[in-house]
Amino acid sequence: MRNLILILGDQLNLDNPALAGYRAPHDRVLMIEAPGEATQVWSHKQRIALFLAAMRHFAERLRGEGYRVEYVALGDAQPDAFGARLAAALRRLAPSRLLCCEPGAWRLQQAIAAACREAGVPLEIRPDRHFIAAREDFARWAKGRKQLRMEHFYREMRRRTGVLMDGGVPAGGRWNFDAENRSGFPRSGPGEIAPPARFPPDAITRAVLVEVTARFPAHPGTLEDFGWPVTEADAQRALARFVEARLENFGRYQDAMWTDTPFGWHSLLSAALNLHLIDPRTVIAAAEQAWRAGRAPLAAVEGFVRQVLGWREFMRGVYWLDMPALAEANHFGAARPLPEWYWNGRTQMRCMAETIGQTLRSGYAHHIQRLMVTGNFALLAGLDPRAVSDWYLAIFVDAVEWVELPNVAGMALYANGGRFTSKPYAASGRYVARMSNYCKGCRYRPEARAGEDACPMTVLYWNFLLAHETEFGKNPRMAQIIRNAARFDAAERRALRARAARMLDNIAAV
Ligand code: FAD
Ligand code: SF4
Repeated sequence: MRNLILILGDQLNLDNPALAGYRAPHDRVLMIEAPGEATQVWSHKQRIALFLAAMRHFAERLRGEGYRVEYVALGDAQPDAFGARLAAALRRLAPSRLLCCEPGAWRLQQAIAAACREAGVPLEIRPDRHFIAAREDFARWAKGRKQLRMEHFYREMRRRTGVLMDGGVPAGGRWNFDAENRSGFPRSGPGEIAPPARFPPDAITRAVLVEVTARFPAHPGTLEDFGWPVTEADAQRALARFVEARLENFGRYQDAMWTDTPFGWHSLLSAALNLHLIDPRTVIAAAEQAWRAGRAPLAAVEGFVRQVLGWREFMRGVYWLDMPALAEANHFGAARPLPEWYWNGRTQMRCMAETIGQTLRSGYAHHIQRLMVTGNFALLAGLDPRAVSDWYLAIFVDAVEWVELPNVAGMALYANGGRFTSKPYAASGRYVARMSNYCKGCRYRPEARAGEDACPMTVLYWNFLLAHETEFGKNPRMAQIIRNAARFDAAERRALRARAARMLDNIAAV
């Protein structure tokens, strides 16, 4: 055999650069399902099912296009680990060369290189063109900058691609519409929200669901509501539905949270994007086109483009720049274990119970739920960044390390010491009360920092500020809030610290 072409579970498109130059009958495609990938972190059942269903559909597609596919299935009698399965395939097939598109995860890149080294098979890794900024482009942009700021990177990407640009100026004369994109839902509630496209499982996906139920019964989450796109055609339909019915309100309610409203006006495209079922350029062009045709307001479209062209590309750049150190980052030396209720949602805090509960049901929570609810609590309670990161990697259907880790370690936990954020995203219960209805019907009161019904978010927020008062006092963006904290007298400080310590000692019961 001449070339063995390895296609990973998050590289599922025919434009995969490793397929370029494929020649039958000398070349063959290799796809590997490995139980170790589902158990390496304690993955949600829907996350496992999504990967398997998308991989099996893609293998069918490849066969339909005339490719010869060597498919290692989950149940094959082989070791569990991906690396061991690859090594076995290299021994069995003895190719002259292994071809692969740049892996998304640092760990897999190491495993592939090690397997090739041991088997004496040359490895060629080709640049991943799914991303608009190559790893090297990002490294060049970052070089010599004291601080990495997404806003600067994003503007450069807009200029470079011409997206939402009119000549040399940003469409509408402004780069940033954040001020228009931060509303909560009205007091009366979100009203009618146009539902996103969901995809009833076909025969291939149904077989996967049966297999996941049988093999991973103890894993978190349920499979009942599985409706994620698993093919390129599904992903295109999901995009079309979003642009036609949901994009117009995406911006305004991007940060809003409400009980029994798991998806809000969000796109739900992250899983399809991360598995490469759809190209980010297609997604961005569809949104821009909707604005140019007068079908969506500029603020919503800019807010959406900022996420895909800005944050998504930026996070991938940071990941490859800062790995493997990013995985160990722990600026505050946080070491508290993750409370068990992160895995089952059984906590008295309604914001956490709602966010975790919907995630167990659907494998999804939107950005603000991830950042300002589960992430905020983890930051304030000093949870171990490694354990927190493992949880995020396990529990969301769209979780892949290159985007999960910078979001968790960098954005939510400030574990990398503000490498790309100017201050920690810390907030008290008041923020949750403003942006959601969670606090109504909660056993705690968001504004209370003393008494039986003191809100853990609020108590831990002030405790966190006091614990890092000296550091935060030097940060111009935190100076005002630290001046407020400085007004606490000694008795109040002692009481607050004692209350926080009691809560943290009893964290299993908050
Ligand atoms: P929308 O709100 O509709 O946004 C559109 C698209 O923009 C998303 O599909 C996504 O591709 C991109 N995007 C939005 N925000 C970000 C961001 N902060 N970083 C990178 N891309 C972004 N996203 C993942 O894809 N996988 C993860 O494992 C993941 N883990 C996260 C962990 C934490 C702690 C936080 C705060 C965020 C995380 N995100 C992750 C980013 C973001 O929350 C999700 O991309 C988004 O909620 C997915 O839902 P959506 O497709 O409806 O997004
Ligand atoms: Fe969460 Fe506090 Fe509001 Fe309860 S009162 S929902 S714990 S923020």
